[in-house]
Amino acid sequence: MALIKKVAVYARYSSDNQREESIEAQIRAINDYCDKNNYKVVKIYTDEAKSATTDDRPQFQTMIKDSSNGLFDIVVVHKLDRFSRDRYDSAFYKRELKKNKVRLISVLENLDDSPESIILESVLEGMAEYYSANLSREVMKGMKETAYQCKHTGGIAPLGYDVATDKTYIINEYEAETVRIIFDMAYRQKSYSEIIKVLEESNRKSKLGRPFSKTSLNSILRNEKYCGVYVFNKTGQKIRGKRSVYNKNENEVIRIENGMPAIVSKDIFIAINKKMDTCSQSDRLAKKATEMYLLSGKIKCGLCESSMKGNKRYCGRNKNKYVTYDCSNRRNKQGCTAKSISTKLVEDLVIDYLEEDFFSYVNIDSLADNILEYNKTLKHGVPQTITAHKAKLKQIQGQIDNIVNAIASGMFHISMKDKMDDLEKQKAMYEAKIADLELKLANYKSIDKENIVAFFESRKGLRKKSPDEVKTIIQTFINKISVYEGYIEIHSIVPTMHGGEENRTPVRKPI
Ligand SMILES: [Zn+2]
Repeated sequence: MALIKKVAVYARYSSDNQREESIEAQIRAINDYCDKNNYKVVKIYTDEAKSATTDDRPQFQTMIKDSSNGLFDIVVVHKLDRFSRDRYDSAFYKRELKKNKVRLISVLENLDDSPESIILESVLEGMAEYYSANLSREVMKGMKETAYQCKHTGGIAPLGYDVATDKTYIINEYEAETVRIIFDMAYRQKSYSEIIKVLEESNRKSKLGRPFSKTSLNSILRNEKYCGVYVFNKTGQKIRGKRSVYNKNENEVIRIENGMPAIVSKDIFIAINKKMDTCSQSDRLAKKATEMYLLSGKIKCGLCESSMKGNKRYCGRNKNKYVTYDCSNRRNKQGCTAKSISTKLVEDLVIDYLEEDFFSYVNIDSLADNILEYNKTLKHGVPQTITAHKAKLKQIQGQIDNIVNAIASGMFHISMKDKMDDLEKQKAMYEAKIADLELKLANYKSIDKENIVAFFESRKGLRKKSPDEVKTIIQTFINKISVYEGYIEIHSIVPTMHGGEENRTPVRKPI
């Protein structure tokens, strides 16, 4: 099964940067790497530039050209920045390689945007879930340590806060005033409409500069951060666009009292939320009526490329319910003319595709082989990253020791305390990172073909799963669904094997 992969090596050196590895050193590292992975080096390309600013890379261009001749399957570089200097450049040439079915591998970095990587990540998640609750607890311990520093974990900061350069939250005074108005009015039992009216009159807007809605007020009043509780929730983060209180697994929620600068008092927060809980009977009924749009974010209009949005309406004499995806460009004056499509119809087609094609025996087998191969490169890359982190940790410890020694010999300056705090924080961060990577490495080592196949098998049977589970599976394995007149196209994150040979992507289904 395993064919020996043919490799082209690319190395680059610019003489005005003394800190770079020489071309010889780069090639040596790449050769080692290829030996370990049983790759055969068939060609070496090198560019030596006089200055990093001139983009004169004749050999690089030759390599890109050669990639269309089937000379090699993989290009290996020592570090990604050898391949390109900026993201645009990188994306462009990576796409060129991809067109010619050539993969790019970096010896030192993991290329985490590849489909294999995405699948592997979800395999690992699935394994932790199904085979090792213990490991999963350990992973959480690692994440917790990072979270315990109460830092912003990505996305947009909540209204009322900015993110400082060290990623901690700081209060944005103007926005905080808006938050206080909302809580104050809610405490005095004003309705959402009344609050919205006051906010509009004083021209106060949401974080994204939009007017407030009942939903946005609700999520602000429910957000514990405002009374100083830092909340970090693995599960909650994964559910895109929706902060769902019902999807949280309590074990995975990290709550740190006083982990955030508070904007409102705890008493007020608790009083309001108690009141909201008792009123949530109607809430729950409303929730029942909300639709679960399984394809949101993935479904696009084939005519104009705009995303399609879920929409529910009641029509006709009997007020029949119609749930559809509509082109979001359709409501504009000169908008798109694409028709709506029934959510049920298009979701069924996608589920059929996953069941019959994506999770077919042949396809799972070929996916498993690809992932195993990718996993091999990780097993090699991760130890290097761990070594680099350990070196950094040693350096930080050295700096801490220096300060301790200075203090012991009677030198004390007030700035030393801040410096010390900062170093201790960094130390904790690197320790957490190393723990996390070591765990990942153990995970990578424990993966075999059986695990991966079992993972995919457990994803089958979508029609018996909960809508939440189905949505997660669709969002993981489907890149895009394009809706055209008469048919849809389904793009999965990797091409589907069909009949053992043929690669078909996208897959077309008539409607
Ligand atoms: Zn459209």
